[in-house]
Amino acid sequence: MPFGDLLTELKRLPALDRYSLTLYRRCAGAVASIGRFEPCATMVEDHLCREVSRQFFEENMEVFFDEGTPSVCRYGGGFFGFLIPFSMSGEDFCLVGDGVREASIDLWQLASLARDGGDAFSLLPYVESLCTASYEEVENVAEQVRLKIEQYRLPEAAGSAHAAVAQGQEPVGDAELAAVSQAMERLDKAATVTACIAICCETIVSAFQAASIAVALPDNDGKSFPVTGVWGLPDELGTVNADSLHLFVAPEKVKKTVLWDGKMRALLPEIRAAVCTIFPLKAQGERLGFLALFDTDVHTNAALLISMLAGAMAGKLSSIGKDATRSKENALSERLMSLTDTLLQIDSKDLLYESILKIASELIDATQGSIMLIDKDGVGMQIVFTQGMTLNVARCLQLKVGKGIAGMVAKTGQPLLVNDVEKDSRVAMANRSRFKSKSLICIPLKLKDKVIGVLNLSDKKNLRPFTHSDLQLLTSFANLASLMIERTEVLEESERFEQLSVTDPLTGLYNRRFLKSRLEEELNRSMRQGLNLTIIFIDLDFFKSYNDLCGHLAGDEALKLTADIIKDSLRDMDIVARYGGEEFCAVLPGTSKVEAMIVAERIRAGIESKRFPGESDIPLRRLTASLGVASFPEDGRSFNDLVHASDIALYEAKARGRNRIVAARTSSERGEPKHEIPEHRPVQTQSALAKTLDFNAYLEASLQSKG
Ligand code: GH3
Ligand code: MG
Ligand code: MG
Repeated sequence: MPFGDLLTELKRLPALDRYSLTLYRRCAGAVASIGRFEPCATMVEDHLCREVSRQFFEENMEVFFDEGTPSVCRYGGGFFGFLIPFSMSGEDFCLVGDGVREASIDLWQLASLARDGGDAFSLLPYVESLCTASYEEVENVAEQVRLKIEQYRLPEAAGSAHAAVAQGQEPVGDAELAAVSQAMERLDKAATVTACIAICCETIVSAFQAASIAVALPDNDGKSFPVTGVWGLPDELGTVNADSLHLFVAPEKVKKTVLWDGKMRALLPEIRAAVCTIFPLKAQGERLGFLALFDTDVHTNAALLISMLAGAMAGKLSSIGKDATRSKENALSERLMSLTDTLLQIDSKDLLYESILKIASELIDATQGSIMLIDKDGVGMQIVFTQGMTLNVARCLQLKVGKGIAGMVAKTGQPLLVNDVEKDSRVAMANRSRFKSKSLICIPLKLKDKVIGVLNLSDKKNLRPFTHSDLQLLTSFANLASLMIERTEVLEESERFEQLSVTDPLTGLYNRRFLKSRLEEELNRSMRQGLNLTIIFIDLDFFKSYNDLCGHLAGDEALKLTADIIKDSLRDMDIVARYGGEEFCAVLPGTSKVEAMIVAERIRAGIESKRFPGESDIPLRRLTASLGVASFPEDGRSFNDLVHASDIALYEAKARGRNRIVAARTSSERGEPKHEIPEHRPVQTQSALAKTLDFNAYLEASLQSKG
């Protein structure tokens, strides 16, 4: 096929819509291109494209030819390209696709690219107009293109096979070719690993009369390759580890049938073959194992077709694997997100430990487990929660960092997966009777690099050993769990800290908690000494509106100024506290109600005359306060009674129009008018029933004051 036609054909692939394609021949440079750097034509004039993409791989083209495997490149400025080397008509070619970029544009890199021909900003609109893609997307496109190219190579392979037949060499007919071509199309649509293997092996058996076939694919952690009999062999044939893989898949251009030698037999004794032909399964430079035919006469041209099929299968297996990893990762991150939400609801440590252990057990189907935390001294460890064993017993255990299995994990910070505690040389101990299975997992709980504890899980529900993916899943969860443990610790710490504090940070006055204990002390003293005591509650009027109109900062400032006014109106021996948001309480030991009313008036007048920030913006143009006064012994003899009495009085003051003082009624005064200082009532509400403490009341009051 002429090169131009090849490119035109490829360009029909919908995935290649956004790409420019260039075909290079070894030692000959570009031989054909479609839309070559088309999307960045103006940048070519800027010398940018040459800098960005062509130079990148043109200089390295020999390396790509030699490697012979497709690659995806991300070159300066965030541009992507892919390269697919292949051979045709006895020559080496390399197809280059580019013209897409990463979503984010690195201005700094662009600037360095633009240094010869202008500034980065002038290039920006242009770069922005390019289509964006992720590395994985480009990889995917490259794989599709590779498969397509393989299909174009088929007729050529067939041609050479026919030629070989004509020369009386090896028989490969149209039937074999058609079978392989059809298998490649089916592979394209296959969705599972099993389907890929079935398509490939069926074809090899029917088209090439293979006597027996085995496939080796990597296990979960990619470190060893279990070998499975697919045709004419037992299912489980043994495992080849990564280091021995070269015995089976030595790099060889032409596939030859070789002796099934002693070394191979030693590794896979189940296979009793005389000869084998082995096809490596490789995709994007990654070793995926091999496909082996035993005791089958495989001619060179048949081998060529089978190796194409094996290549196509490897490509497909790799993309299935990547899709599976991606969807697993997505599922995991969704799960972790929802677990985060669950754990964020929990504020108590014990509940948190319980939830963490429950979730961890559910994640990997464990039935026993514990959480251990390292003591502050970094030496001992405490079991803080258990599942499947008694916590009280567990708490008695003396645990040390560095000692025992969990202690080692705490020390090294490395997770541990043990299949069999009795056989694993890292552990080597007799299994304890309380464990039904001999497999366990210990995961360090870490904050950054600091180990804070260990999560231990054992006894999988089906009693089988834990797997590598259990370990991975639990490691991701352990990171979240550690953060949550830290979070509750910080919360509890700050709560403890708050418990210890006596002052309100905004105003510097005593806080409510301290007020209670001080007032109780003073009440006791008053009782013992037969003295009076009066409390005054002060609440700013319409403070919510003040906040809304003047801003929270002004609100804070007003609270501080109010605190100062109250303090200045009192004696040193009096106590003043911020009781709540804009509510203050003053305690005047040895003071009667009548005496206290004078102090209360000093406070009310002080607040009324004070110029608060932004005050002129509020409808009444000034900030005022209402006060409620109650005294020992007549209004109450305990903290609660006195607070209650002054609260009622304060409510009364609000209802009667605010900016005023109301004293609690003593039992003897009940039924009589309230004690009130009438001369300071600048805000007159028409109705004493104005009990709605909301903005409407405020507006009403303001209208009346204007009227
Ligand atoms: P009333 O005259 O009936 O007392 O009305 P009010 O608006 O003062 O009463 P309410 O209790 O509805 O609103 C109190 C407001 O005090 C609510 C909140 O916006 C404000 N507040 C409470 N604490 C603070 C604080 O620390 N800083 C600031 N800026 N505002 C606070
Ligand atoms: Mg108020
Ligand atoms: Mg209030």
